[in-house]
Amino acid sequence: MKKKKVVIIGGGAAGMMAAITAAKEGAAVTILEHKDRVGKKILMTGNGKCNLTNMSDISGKYYGEDIPRIEQCIRQFDASATRAFFQEIGLYTKEKRDGGVYPVSEQAASVLDVLRLTCEHLQVNMLTNADAIAVLPSKQGGSVEYMLYPEPEKVQTKNGKKEKVVCRGEAIRKNIAYDALVIATGGQAASVAGSDGSGYALAKSLGHSLIKPLPALVQLRCEGDYFKAVSGVRAQALLQLYIDGKQCFSEEGELQLTDYGISGIPVFQFSRIAARALLEKKRCEVVIDFMTFLSEGQLQELIAHKESFAYKTMEEMLTGLVNKKLAALVCRQCGISLTDKLGDVSERKWKECLHLLKHFKVVVNGTNPFENAQVCSGGIPLAEVSDKMESLKQKDVFFAGEILDCDGICGGYNLQWAWSSGKIAGQAAAK
Ligand SMILES: Cc1cc2nc3c(=O)[nH]c(=O)nc-3n(C[C@H](O)[C@H](O)[C@H](O)COP(=O)(O)OP(=O)(O)OC[C@H]3O[C@@H](n4cnc5c(N)ncnc54)[C@H](O)[C@@H]3O)c2cc1C
Repeated sequence: MKKKKVVIIGGGAAGMMAAITAAKEGAAVTILEHKDRVGKKILMTGNGKCNLTNMSDISGKYYGEDIPRIEQCIRQFDASATRAFFQEIGLYTKEKRDGGVYPVSEQAASVLDVLRLTCEHLQVNMLTNADAIAVLPSKQGGSVEYMLYPEPEKVQTKNGKKEKVVCRGEAIRKNIAYDALVIATGGQAASVAGSDGSGYALAKSLGHSLIKPLPALVQLRCEGDYFKAVSGVRAQALLQLYIDGKQCFSEEGELQLTDYGISGIPVFQFSRIAARALLEKKRCEVVIDFMTFLSEGQLQELIAHKESFAYKTMEEMLTGLVNKKLAALVCRQCGISLTDKLGDVSERKWKECLHLLKHFKVVVNGTNPFENAQVCSGGIPLAEVSDKMESLKQKDVFFAGEILDCDGICGGYNLQWAWSSGKIAGQAAAK
């Protein structure tokens, strides 16, 4: 019997999962990948360790216009199924205290290697340097037009290292027929790894709409010329996000102050909410508690005991509480000098200074660009695909991964979306 031809655009996490699944179902699978290697982004994940899923409950972990659909998809192929899948293809995993799952090797390269080797073993044709530029559907199936670039040449550089040249040379226009097509081109985040947003244009050409993609899991840029002075400070802090004055998210963790604003996991977790709010021209503020170890009651005690520390300078007083750069910043903002003796500082100013460290307000005015983002929010609406991830606009076309309107918080949830949607799309495409 003739094998069903499944073409997959995009050799990322979702594309490779779809390829392995479809090949296991007996399809003849080809991946078109426009980078010179598949799975480049996987190598960047989890700081090179790849947090490939999370065993915690998924409720509240995903965003998008149709959260029940996202959760339903994940439940069909969940974190346990993902671990079992990887073990079956030779990758042992371990779970950390927060439920995050990593390869035992703690190397993202291991994850990519097992996926790539499994693709090879299943005779998946992995065409790299192949940039899909158009989808041409016909009554049954269709074809994909792509530009095949020559393999970038290695050239000798001055310091003796061999590097790949960026220039790609003459490309050949080619065409590949499909019975079923999976579009798994990712979004626009970290385009250095290949996801340049070109998948959106392919989807649009098939009649799909697009929920505006925005950077997510990204640093936030803030108003204020003082950030340069506190750049580099890392502090355990509680962050509360306010949109138009209403508190809508809070997260505790290691905050990083940069010369343009705020960064770190707690910031990443609500960055997509802030990005959407800014798009809608809403006021976006973050209130930072730099002294989570002090309750409001303990803070009042510290304020009240001012006189017992009258002999100390402000610098001496604050040194045991916060980072020196922060101490200098709040003193400056309150009009106090670090060398002022606490006895000479008014009670109002002392209170103002401590209050500021407990409730430091920053106004967010932007996000860093897609280049710095780990994922994209927005994408192809789930309302335009079936439960099998098949396009409701174009027969025999399926979607998987970040190109769809789904983004998760940090912790392995985004790769889980790629595995789950890739699995479902690959299975349905092969049937
Ligand atoms: C720095 C960083 C760290 C991260 N860490 C984690 C983590 O630890 N855990 C986690 O869960 N998530 C993490 N993520 C997010 C996660 O990597 C992504 O959500 C996931 O890889 C998306 O998979 P995907 O297959 O949908 O898209 P991608 O991985 O972006 O793959 C898409 C592929 O399609 C190719 N492509 C695009 N357009 C075309 C075209 N026109 N023709 C041919 N090929 C094309 C691209 O080159 C790419 O290889 C991280 C992301 C980044 C950037």
